[in-house]
Amino acid sequence: MIEINNKVDCCGCNACGDCCPHASISYEIDNEGFWYPKVDINTCTNCHLCEMVCPMLTKSDFIVRYETPKVFAAFNKNEEIRLDSTSGGVHSLLAEYVFSQEGYVGGAVYNTDHTVSHITSNDSSKLNEIRSSKYLQSKMVGQYMEVKELLNLGKTVFYCGAPCQIQALYKYLRKDYDNLITADFICRGVNSPKVFVSYINMLERQYGSKATKIKFKCKKWGWHNFSTRVSFANGMEYCKDRDHDLFLIGYLQSGIFSRPSCYDCHFKGFPQKADITLADFWGIEHLDSSMDHDKGTSLVMINSDKGLELFNNVKDDLTWKEFTMSDAKIGNKAIDSSMKPLSDNRDLFFDAIDKKPFEQVAKEFFPIRSSWQWFVYKTKVLISKFIK
Ligand SMILES: Cc1cc2nc3c(=O)[nH]c(=O)nc-3n(C[C@H](O)[C@H](O)[C@H](O)COP(=O)(O)OP(=O)(O)OC[C@H]3O[C@@H](n4cnc5c(N)ncnc54)[C@H](O)[C@@H]3O)c2cc1C
Ligand code: SF4
Ligand code: SF4
Ligand code: SF4
Repeated sequence: MIEINNKVDCCGCNACGDCCPHASISYEIDNEGFWYPKVDINTCTNCHLCEMVCPMLTKSDFIVRYETPKVFAAFNKNEEIRLDSTSGGVHSLLAEYVFSQEGYVGGAVYNTDHTVSHITSNDSSKLNEIRSSKYLQSKMVGQYMEVKELLNLGKTVFYCGAPCQIQALYKYLRKDYDNLITADFICRGVNSPKVFVSYINMLERQYGSKATKIKFKCKKWGWHNFSTRVSFANGMEYCKDRDHDLFLIGYLQSGIFSRPSCYDCHFKGFPQKADITLADFWGIEHLDSSMDHDKGTSLVMINSDKGLELFNNVKDDLTWKEFTMSDAKIGNKAIDSSMKPLSDNRDLFFDAIDKKPFEQVAKEFFPIRSSWQWFVYKTKVLISKFIK
């Protein structure tokens, strides 16, 4: 049976719970807000199925993928959807196509308590909720079972998740179904749902109202200078860019509240398991400025014939150009490297999150710069771009 002695050994994919024939696995949430499996030894028969399904222990070996993906820069010709998406809105187009073929789409949505879970649906009106990156871990409980049932009924399923979740899906299914198409993304890491709720609580206090809509990578000040936007029940709106929003500073600059497994991710590199890998095409402005309007440009990596077929079906509704893998790697470190190692301050940080408001914890633990420090930092960034 599965036993987690070291937290870095569990990516929290929830596949073990779905595969246990005796429902002996539940999940306990630790002091950092991440879930880990707990086995009920009274009902467990020690059948080892949970170990066989765990993507941290072994990888699926039946999936055939291109050694080197086909690489495209692309964006949705529908400007409204492009602007509402995290990158270039390619995912939405793929999903719309699958809905139009009466298929099902799986992706992550916010729950009312500001946590995130995956859903699978054939209701195209759900795409508004599925669209966009949520920078906290998404629960997958029940999803593996549901997808398998749909596939066995002959339904087409387009499923998108983090690379570890897609690897877990294939481990669970034990074969590559013809009617399953998967997408994953280049993944910096997922953050603690508990820290995210603490951040939203701070904003709700400041705005005196309940948060009703959250949008990471809002493009109010452009894709390059992405922001977080939160709308409130009283009609007010919060929007701050990556250099001023405390959650983004914590994620991108301190990296202190991501899941322990993300600091040494086992799912980096190629071939990826998904049919299509999506990302931001950072650096596209230096390769081909006609592909960058500061409205979001996707990096699309096609890893299989099935992925290529789906991409070809939507190509007419995209503006796209082909590039190489080395072009893609220039601006996107997360393609093959994990986040910087776990912080020594981590225990102190999570202790503080339990006791103090988010703004105070941020002041103590994040590298928040003064206006003068910002000026120096931005000038250095500009000079380094100019020298390149
Ligand atoms: C946690 C996280 C970290 C990422 N890190 C990077 C990075 O370092 N570099 C990079 O280039 N790109 C990264 N991405 C990918 C990028 O943000 C875009 O999601 C991707 O480029 C697709 O953009 P899009 O506009 O086509 O689709 P989008 O509209 O963004 O949709 C993409 C799909 O991702 C799903 N999704 C959203 N949040 C989650 C979640 N928490 N867990 C699982 N699935 C989710 C959505 O439901 C949807 O199915 C990350 C995404 C996430 C969620
Ligand atoms: S060993 Fe078998 S019965 Fe026990 S928890 Fe794992 S899957 Fe369930
Ligand atoms: S299957 Fe997933 S949730 Fe279960 S132990 Fe392995 S990584 Fe953790
Ligand atoms: S960084 Fe790796 S382990 Fe963490 S969520 Fe992404 S794919 Fe999973």
